[in-house]
Amino acid sequence: MTTETADCVPTGMDELSVLDAAVAELENRANSQFRTVREPAAEIRRRAEELGADELYQRADLLLASVALREGRTGEGGQTAHRVLAWAERHNCPRLLARAHRQVSLFYRYVGDSAEGLKHAVQAVSHLPEDEPRVVRTQFLLSLSVTLEENGARIDGDQRGREALALARAEGDHEMILRCLNNLAYSAYENDDEPAARAMVAEMHEIAAQIGHRFGANELDTMARVELMGGRYDAVEALLTPVLADLVTANEGDAVAECQLTLALTRRLAGRYPEAQAALDANLRICEERGLAAVRARLREEQAALYAATGRFAEAYEEHRVFHTETTALLSAQRDARARALQAVFEANEARRSSEHFREMAHRDALTGLYNRRHVNERVPAMLLDAVNRRGPISLAIIDLDHFKRVNDTLSHAAGDTVLQHVAALLEEATPETALAARMGGEEFLLVLPGVGAEEAALRCERLRLRIRAHAWGPITGSLPVTTSIGVITSPHGSGTLPSLLADADRNLYAAKRGGRDRVAATLLA
Ligand code: GH3
Ligand code: MG
Ligand code: MG
Repeated sequence: MTTETADCVPTGMDELSVLDAAVAELENRANSQFRTVREPAAEIRRRAEELGADELYQRADLLLASVALREGRTGEGGQTAHRVLAWAERHNCPRLLARAHRQVSLFYRYVGDSAEGLKHAVQAVSHLPEDEPRVVRTQFLLSLSVTLEENGARIDGDQRGREALALARAEGDHEMILRCLNNLAYSAYENDDEPAARAMVAEMHEIAAQIGHRFGANELDTMARVELMGGRYDAVEALLTPVLADLVTANEGDAVAECQLTLALTRRLAGRYPEAQAALDANLRICEERGLAAVRARLREEQAALYAATGRFAEAYEEHRVFHTETTALLSAQRDARARALQAVFEANEARRSSEHFREMAHRDALTGLYNRRHVNERVPAMLLDAVNRRGPISLAIIDLDHFKRVNDTLSHAAGDTVLQHVAALLEEATPETALAARMGGEEFLLVLPGVGAEEAALRCERLRLRIRAHAWGPITGSLPVTTSIGVITSPHGSGTLPSLLADADRNLYAAKRGGRDRVAATLLA
């Protein structure tokens, strides 16, 4: 669609809902499809920027961060995910907050800070809204499970892993079942439980055959580790060769590095030392390029073992020392990870219940972020009293949208909401520091101007009226104009009560409506 048609056809809102559905589809797309996400996500982000659709922009940006993390652009992905996290926190957007925490968690796991990884994985699950689809909850549980295990909380991790598998089975989501089995198989390997690991791998093969799924690098690595347990070194090589030849999707950012490490270990155990060294060298390059400190630390350990196997004990010792230094830093951070993670959740819940932020929210209108009627009732009487004490003027203006029902009726309620948000933003722009802007309900707004006399109040309102009328409404309402009628009342010395002043302003508003709308009507109280 060209911008020309986008401007003159009233489809702005339709396009937003189309983009919204498209981004939701990308968010729910299976992990293995991540390569197909980048282009559409970039396109949506570009369009969201043009439309000034902030949340949509952030959602698309986070999708691109997850692609970057999976492609091994760890730093870039982590930075974007952090930025989106901060935005979601500022805008109190739990859905996005949960997803951003999950990507930030992945970033920390890759760079070797599994304590932070766990903290964010817990936050991700705890912010996930109740009404999210079951498959999303499963994904989040699975991430939490893996992160718990990385922090040495095997039992907790295993429990979440099994819950996730049960949910995936209930959904009949095969891709998800495969991911759960893969993780359970890997933890069975780590627990040295070969029969359990083999049973999971057998089921993975069954399902893959049923749905024609091709295993990715991380799944092949799990299978290779299971073969390694049985000492079947050739089978390991056979499984991992396609990964090195780049014939397989590496759907996790550290999957190729993990495969190289498995190969190095296997080759050392098979006594093929030069090839083991080659795998380590290649791996070191990958880890440096991608900033994968977690794998790099384990690489050092493997290098030490390889030196020792070839009789190079001095180098083995040195390598082991470096490994020890690198991992001590990581491990000491992990020790209190669980306690800190729980603390963080506790604080987040507390914050939601009783903080300044929450109290502030009770005084704000959810749609526009402006103050609400409750705040007006609590705050304006004090402003009037102040005017009385100063013996100075105060003006109140009620701003009401003209024929607003038409926007809802001919376009959509969602389009109406967007109009209200834009009007709120324009009103905020026109509100000086000492003044107060609020949404009184529906399509009615209030502006309170302390210290402003009748003439200046009328002038300011006239400017606001023209500003709203001149706003670029085309993308939202097409050919429908958006105008306002404004009723202003000025109390020269702060006399009158809030209800009486509102009634006076309302009378002027109706005079403006009767006079033909799109105008300001003002009076000065005696
Ligand atoms: P007039 O210019 O004479 O004031 O006509 P109007 O249609 O603007 O006024 P009326 O009070 O008849 O209708 C206001 C409409 O505003 C009715 C209601 O559906 C709509 N409305 C109220 N609150 C909201 C909201 O939060 N979102 C949307 N989209 N519409 C709302
Ligand atoms: Mg109206
Ligand atoms: Mg009204």
